[in-house]
Amino acid sequence: MTLTHLSEEQREIVSLARNFARDEVTPFAAQWDRDSHFEPSLVKKLGDLGFLGLMIPEEFDGMGLDTLTYLLALEEIARADASVAVMLSVHNSLPTQMLLRWGNEAQKERFLKPMARGELLGAFALSEAESGSDASSLRCQAVRDGDDWIISGTKTWVTSGSHAGVIIAMVRTDASDARRGSKGISAFIITPDLPGFSVSKKEDKMGLRASPTVQLVFDHCRVPADRLLGDEGQGFIYAMQSLDNGRLGIAAQALGIAQAALDASLAYAAERRQFGTAIRDFQAIQFKLADMASRITASRALLHATAAAKDRGEPTTAFGAMSKLMASETAMWAATEAVQIFGGYGYVKDYPVEKLFRDAKITEIYEGTSEIQRVVIARQLYAQQD
Ligand SMILES: Cc1cc2nc3c(=O)[nH]c(=O)nc-3n(C[C@H](O)[C@H](O)[C@H](O)COP(=O)(O)OP(=O)(O)OC[C@H]3O[C@@H](n4cnc5c(N)ncnc54)[C@H](O)[C@@H]3O)c2cc1C
Repeated sequence: MTLTHLSEEQREIVSLARNFARDEVTPFAAQWDRDSHFEPSLVKKLGDLGFLGLMIPEEFDGMGLDTLTYLLALEEIARADASVAVMLSVHNSLPTQMLLRWGNEAQKERFLKPMARGELLGAFALSEAESGSDASSLRCQAVRDGDDWIISGTKTWVTSGSHAGVIIAMVRTDASDARRGSKGISAFIITPDLPGFSVSKKEDKMGLRASPTVQLVFDHCRVPADRLLGDEGQGFIYAMQSLDNGRLGIAAQALGIAQAALDASLAYAAERRQFGTAIRDFQAIQFKLADMASRITASRALLHATAAAKDRGEPTTAFGAMSKLMASETAMWAATEAVQIFGGYGYVKDYPVEKLFRDAKITEIYEGTSEIQRVVIARQLYAQQD
């Protein structure tokens, strides 16, 4: 259910995504979740569909679609599996957009084009063990050595990091006292072939189990100077600006989870009988279904309006944070209600809502926790007041 008018092209993309999810994701998602298995063939298949270059202009081998169309496709994939959706969201919102915006022509040719074609998967490495919400306190450091940089440190929680061909990593290039904090951080284009780079611990997660989340170790990793993305010292600003867009992807992922929770609840409530009638006849269940549909529709309307504003070139920091906050809290709430509607059957792995419940939680945490979204929104409110 959406209030947004969709063009012919948008309807086609939605149906492409829905058919792909039906054939290539839904039948396997529960098993991938049980096995904590990332299915590498998905990258090629999604690449062949054009889904790894959804917002990349055609001149760089992408589909050149607008933000709303991208989010519509992402929601459909998330409805089938949130793990596949986060791989798509990170790739499309963060590393590819950073290369498109700040990469030079040689970098676009070498990295962006194969990423848009689905030949290289992208990842984004900002977080560290001691530096999460306070991302500007990161310690991973690069020191100049002739024509190279030598990077030392460890990045944590990197989505798709074990399978990525390109990782955009934020690293401190100026550790002098006067320039600590957000200044002095630069963005680097990392490839797994660099000497001193390795993938270490894979996290054993509550949900999103088919999405590998790993630590990346830089042990005096030698990186050629032409891997610097954009200007030295601007990496933190690039990361923050990119996360404004990344949050829209996470909001779409959350909406897919919430919609799946509603779909499953509607079907189950029609089929499950107690006291001689389908449980959907009880007003208590009707109210849950109605509230789920209302909150999902409201969150989706906000997200779609934000996407349209972004494509008009308007600032969307506050609306993006609101979209992510609303959609993720809706997803967690809707998944909780779905488990309640399923009763005991909601608590076991034979039915889909147990996985939705586990998958929903992360949307309130990554790319800025709900608390941080509220901080961002309040800051924007105060700025308008001043
Ligand atoms: C599955 C998964 C995938 C991820 N993928 C990536 C990725 O691809 N790349 C990447 O760089 N990172 C990634 N992350 C990291 C993620 O973005 C961080 O976990 C998140 O930003 C929170 O940081 P933290 O875990 O260190 O929590 P902390 O920052 O330690 O926060 C702990 C608690 O304190 C609260 N808090 C902190 N500061 C404030 C404040 N100022 N006001 C109010 N409350 C506050 C938080 O909201 C939270 O409740 C991923 C994480 C997970 C779990």
